[in-house]
Amino acid sequence: MAHFTDLQNLLKHLRGELPAMLETLEAFVCCESPSTEKAAADRCAALIADVWRRAGGQIELREPKHRGTHLLITYSPSLNRSRGQLLVLGHYDTVYATGTLAKMPFRKACGRVFGPGVFDMKAGIVQALFALRALRELDPPVSKRIVFLWTSDEEIGSESSRKLIEAEAKRSDAIFVLEPSLGPLGLLKTARKGVGEAEIIVHGRASHAGLAPEKGVNAIHELALQIARIREWNDPLHGISANAGIVEGGTRTNVIPDHAKAVIDLRARRIADMQTIEKRLHALQPILSGARVEVNGGFSRVPLERKHSAALFRRAQSLAKQMGLKVGECTAGGGSDGNFTAALGIPTLDGCGAVGDGAHSPGEYILAKTMPERAALLAAMLITN
Ligand SMILES: [Zn+2]
Repeated sequence: MAHFTDLQNLLKHLRGELPAMLETLEAFVCCESPSTEKAAADRCAALIADVWRRAGGQIELREPKHRGTHLLITYSPSLNRSRGQLLVLGHYDTVYATGTLAKMPFRKACGRVFGPGVFDMKAGIVQALFALRALRELDPPVSKRIVFLWTSDEEIGSESSRKLIEAEAKRSDAIFVLEPSLGPLGLLKTARKGVGEAEIIVHGRASHAGLAPEKGVNAIHELALQIARIREWNDPLHGISANAGIVEGGTRTNVIPDHAKAVIDLRARRIADMQTIEKRLHALQPILSGARVEVNGGFSRVPLERKHSAALFRRAQSLAKQMGLKVGECTAGGGSDGNFTAALGIPTLDGCGAVGDGAHSPGEYILAKTMPERAALLAAMLITN
C-alpha cells in the first residue's frame, strides 16, 4: 500500500495505469454519443455507468425525455464522517453525428490519441475514473463526499442538465470541471467568458422597389444599420465581442423586404460588461422611420470570473509542483457548465481534463502521457480539498 500522503506515489501508480486508461478511452470514444441523438447517447451513458459501477461508484440515472441519460455518481469516503461535498463535472456528449467514427477512427500515433470527442471530453471522464480508482486503492483519508456528474447535453447549451448541475453545485464546496485544458502545456481555465446569443428581427413594409419605393420600409437596410451599431460594441481589449453570425431576409431583388433577421454571438469577460451589453441590446431602437425592431435572447452563460477559481488554482499549482509537474492558467473564450457553477459563487476550477488540441475538429487529439498526470492532479485535489 502506498503512502497516501505521497503524491509522487500517486502519480507513479497512475502512470502504471496508462494502458488500462487507453483501453477505457477507446471503448468510450468508439461508443458515439452526439448530444442530439438520444438512443446513441443513452448507449454511451450505459457503458460509462457500467465502468463506473465496477469502480465502486454509486450511480443514479437522470433521464430527460429528449436527451441522453445524465449520470450522477457518488463516492462516499470510508471514514463515514463526510464533511461536505466536492463535485467533478463533465459531459459525455460530443458534437459529432453518429457515423463520424468511420471517417475519424480512434487511433494512436506518436503519443497522440485521436477520435471524435477524445479531447472534449471523454479522456477527462477516463482520468476522473482512474483518479477515483486510485483513491480507492491507495485509500487516502478522503473527508468529503465526491460526486461525479456526467451530462449529455453540454455541447448544445445544457438545457436538460442545468438544474441538476446547479442543485449539485449548491451542495458542493468546490467544483472541478473536466473540460479540456488549453494548449500543449495544458493550461487550466481560471476564467471563462460569458456567452450568449441574440436574435434581431426587423419588421419593415413590403413594396415594389421600382414602382412605389416610397411606400416601403426596407427591413434589410434597417438590419444593416442595427448590425453596424452592434459592431461598435466589440472591445477586444476587454474581451467583449458581438459577432453577427447569421443573416437572412428578403425574397426578390425588386421587392422591398418587410422582414430580416440576424443572429448575434455575444461574449464578455466580466459580469458588468455582460450586463451593459444586455441593456444595450434590449434598448435598440429602429433607425428608419416605420421599421420595428424585435430583440430576443441574451447571455445564457455568465462569465466565470477569476476570483472564483484563484484559490483552487493556487492549490493545483502547488500539488502539481510536489509531483514534479507544472500547470499554468488561461482565460477561455468559450463557455462551459463551469460558468453556471461559478455564477452561484462556488469555487470552480475548469479545464481540469485532457491535454491536447483540436476540439470540435477532425484533428481532435490528446497527449496520452498526460492522462496519468492529470488524473493524479485531480485525485490530489480531491484528497486535499
Ligand atoms: Zn466540452
